[in-house]
Amino acid sequence: MRQDIAYAYQADVWCENCAQQIMADIRANHPDQVPEDDMDQASYDSGEWPKGYMVDFEECDCPQHCAGCQTFLRNPLTSEGYAYVKAQLDATGPKLGDVAQEWADYYSFQWHAECQACDYDEDECECTQPVIVREWRSSEMF
Ligand SMILES: [Zn+2]
Ligand SMILES: [Zn+2]
Repeated sequence: MRQDIAYAYQADVWCENCAQQIMADIRANHPDQVPEDDMDQASYDSGEWPKGYMVDFEECDCPQHCAGCQTFLRNPLTSEGYAYVKAQLDATGPKLGDVAQEWADYYSFQWHAECQACDYDEDECECTQPVIVREWRSSEMF
């Protein structure tokens, strides 16, 4: 299992690299904002100092990207999250951009184009009245 850490800071999420830079910045420029014990997360506010959390344990309603460098944080999704990603991918069609492709790969989405009348792929269907469905599906969607 991955043990990736992300950070909540000022209402955004950040990757570890960016959060480390933010913390270095605060240490240098606003030492009064540095918590005495940054392991004691109850003692400070994520508006002042980044709060780390395990990405694997935080299901979200959409894929999360670092607010600084836009790195995809590979967070788990709720069922709403899967529905959101599917809607985004379906709106794009079979050829995805880089970010959407990253989501599709990570969340196990595959493109389907098949006939619901015969259950064959679109290009193998010989129905006179084909019922073609084109969509992205994830084996992990629930
Ligand atoms: Zn980042
Ligand atoms: Zn067919």
